[in-house]
Amino acid sequence: MCTVLAEFRTAIERISLYNIKGSKRHLAALVEEVQTLANRMEAGLRDKKAEKKLRKKVKVYERRVLRLRKQVKHLEIRVAQENSILERLERNKKRADCEHCDHTGCDECDKGGLEGLGSLFG
Ligand SMILES: [Zn+2]
Repeated sequence: MCTVLAEFRTAIERISLYNIKGSKRHLAALVEEVQTLANRMEAGLRDKKAEKKLRKKVKVYERRVLRLRKQVKHLEIRVAQENSILERLERNKKRADCEHCDHTGCDECDKGGLEGLGSLFG
């Protein structure tokens, strides 16, 4: 930009009645050059602004993701707790309905539905 402006100043100093046509063309070319440089600078500034905005948005979304992950963890814990309550109720119901034992649990009433979870209930 500075080089073009220096060229501009020199060109203006050299204007005379004898070279007015050439000077006009030269100045017009220099104006276009300055315009191009200015456009590039503007685009650069716009990109920087856009980048700043995007970075802010990314931060907001990152915070949101963290909050949602925490919520998901809480919900997973609640689901696990409610599942274990349901399993216990189901087991108690099976034991209560069992005709093979005195409702304290046997191979018949404790089988099915609790495989893999047996360790949870002892
Ligand atoms: Zn039983």
